[in-house]
Amino acid sequence: MLTTHPFQDDKLREECGVFGVWDIETAAAVAALGLHALQHRGQEAAGITSFDGAGFHSHRAMGHVAGNFDKDEIIRALAGRSAIGHVRYSTTGASALRNVQPLFAELATGGFAVAHNGNISNAMRLRRELNARGSIFQSTSDTEVIIHLVATSGYRSLLDRFIDALKHVEGAYSLVCLTEEGMIACRDPLGIRPLVMGKLGEATIFASETVALDVIGATYVRSVAPGELIVVSERGVESHRPFAPARPRPCIFEHVYFSRPDSIVDGASVYTVRKAIGAELARESGVEADLVVPVPDSGVPAALGYAQESGIPFELGIIRSHYVGRTFIQPGDQVRHLGVKLKHNANSALIKGKRLILVDDSIVRGTTSLKIVQMMREAGATEVHMRIASPPTRHSCFYGVDTPERTKLLAARMDVAAMNQYIGADSLAFVSIDGLYRALGEPGRDLHGDVAGDVHAPSHCDACFSGDYPTALTDHDDSEQRGQLIPIERYA
Ligand code: SF4
Repeated sequence: MLTTHPFQDDKLREECGVFGVWDIETAAAVAALGLHALQHRGQEAAGITSFDGAGFHSHRAMGHVAGNFDKDEIIRALAGRSAIGHVRYSTTGASALRNVQPLFAELATGGFAVAHNGNISNAMRLRRELNARGSIFQSTSDTEVIIHLVATSGYRSLLDRFIDALKHVEGAYSLVCLTEEGMIACRDPLGIRPLVMGKLGEATIFASETVALDVIGATYVRSVAPGELIVVSERGVESHRPFAPARPRPCIFEHVYFSRPDSIVDGASVYTVRKAIGAELARESGVEADLVVPVPDSGVPAALGYAQESGIPFELGIIRSHYVGRTFIQPGDQVRHLGVKLKHNANSALIKGKRLILVDDSIVRGTTSLKIVQMMREAGATEVHMRIASPPTRHSCFYGVDTPERTKLLAARMDVAAMNQYIGADSLAFVSIDGLYRALGEPGRDLHGDVAGDVHAPSHCDACFSGDYPTALTDHDDSEQRGQLIPIERYA
């Protein structure tokens, strides 16, 4: 099988998207539309659970939202005026159907379904403890520990049990839960993964990104605040703050790559931030050239920002085919030598004889950059200068993003000069970490005001660049002690 995503396979991948809708006709159909807009956050599996006042209904399947939720009989079977949904890659747990969310359990307090974006960084430790106390797990997903913690909590009400459960959990979680009483949406105390709230008539919506509100014509109300827990029920909308205040550390990579450019993340337009990163790059590492060329599609806004700041013309020097599926069965061994370029191709008539600035969002393994530079040279470019709209990715993510282990990250293995040599460019430069924060409207990483007494904590999680992980990494540290993992170089 030939993968036809040569540029996407060498990216960090967001692992999940969540959606919830409370109090609307055919809630499952609305959830399916919302999930469709979040498909870029997870393409391996999708699921929806609804509640119709009498019982819960669930459909979970491997594959895309379209194809699984475009059939009338499936939507009709998901009866009710409330529903939650999930799209996923596998962060933890194998990609078996039993791990596809929403997960559901009948608890002493009634039915409970949960959809989770993020990763619980002490899930293995909690699982061992729960197993020792008699819990029997149905999946290998980290999310299931939340259900068992709720089930075994000593508190009486479901809400108190849920809050008690979350107080045992470390890491990143944006959760949307469906119960017989109402819907609960919650973001971890640092707000690492995004979650927004919207309104559609009388209905309340929760989603990982605002694009899921746009697609159903809902109005964006606000982001769920880090550490906030919102309950929507017949009593209305209640906001709770069950955790000790902490300086929020939302994922900065949402702005670089994960979120769709038409989304608003924590109040900032992703498209505007990406253009500002490109302008920072142009100021920090300008070079004489004839054209600014984006690596499509994710490099486009930053390349526009670079071109506008530098005055160098923006051109589409790489053309992407939009008619290629995720994978393609290679039509026989005899074409293996052709170096098939189904997804992206050089716009040779434009590139020939030109000095290019190629703009991409990140370098992960580096295999993609190497291929693109080679493609540009074969198309007749006289110079190829690579500019990257994020700092070097040197560390793995433990918060719900699929990163290769550190040894596979090009920037963890070599410095920028060696990386340049590896990819075969004339020059290579990354935006600085301060430049990235400036693009978000801040003076720099460590130069903002005092919040919660933590003067030096940056305003975002940027651990994949800095190694400064904002939470404990209990499972990683446990594995490290057993000699199973290479150590993390923590940020000094
Ligand atoms: Fe985002 Fe990187 Fe932090 Fe993971 S480590 S949450 S990708 S900034």
